[in-house]
Amino acid sequence: MNTQDINKRIRLIMDLRNKGIVDTDVLSAIERVPREAFVPHHSRDQAWEDMALPIGLGQTISQPFVVAFMTQALEISDRDKVLEIGTGCGYQCAVLSHLARRVYTIERHKHLLIDAEKRLTELKLRNVTAIAADGMKGWPVMHGLSQAPFDKIIVTAAARKKPPQDLLDQIRVGGRMIIPVGEPGNQMLKLYKKESEEAYAVKDVMPVRFVPLLPDISNKTNDMAATLN
Ligand code: SAH
Repeated sequence: MNTQDINKRIRLIMDLRNKGIVDTDVLSAIERVPREAFVPHHSRDQAWEDMALPIGLGQTISQPFVVAFMTQALEISDRDKVLEIGTGCGYQCAVLSHLARRVYTIERHKHLLIDAEKRLTELKLRNVTAIAADGMKGWPVMHGLSQAPFDKIIVTAAARKKPPQDLLDQIRVGGRMIIPVGEPGNQMLKLYKKESEEAYAVKDVMPVRFVPLLPDISNKTNDMAATLN
């Protein structure tokens, strides 16, 4: 890494600190993940700017401030099992993988998932399990094995009206979920704390702009594979 790159990283971390990210574990996770590896070649110069960038298929890599803010709100410990909905390019997942015990991540675009998995493998982030599926249904039971409940859930696409019930069900009692909710142009980031099997404390934390959470898997070949299984 050259001096210019190091300076860009330091500038971003200072910028995030000024914007209210005080959790040093979160800041150091952001500093350790090479964001340039997650953006298209032509956007590499902007990789360490505090801005969202397009990653293809109409999707975006979130703004570092939003990634840091959502991660900080979850208060992740190294004992936590975390579920992420909306892997996208895998950047948020990489940040989580430095903080949590294990990260489970779901993406509905098979192509995005394959690319994200490649990056995560190259970065040797071995505590991540990624699948192509509809994340609105939560983490599926596979080979008779259920991973739920999760200590923390992070949803990086916006639910139209309210969080999917399957996701609320997969939060451990005492756990948290952060999720954008609302119509395009009018979304609010909400923090859920699960107090008992039926009771949640909900807090509005910040207006945001995310792509919508969409049902089902997006890719035809994959739909066929799903039917064959
Ligand atoms: N976490 C990403 C941002 C992803 S953008 C990052 O760090 O950059 C939101 C992603 O959510 C998109 O890739 C979109 O395809 C995905 N998505 C939308 N609805 C989904 C669903 N029901 N299940 C899984 N992924 C979904």
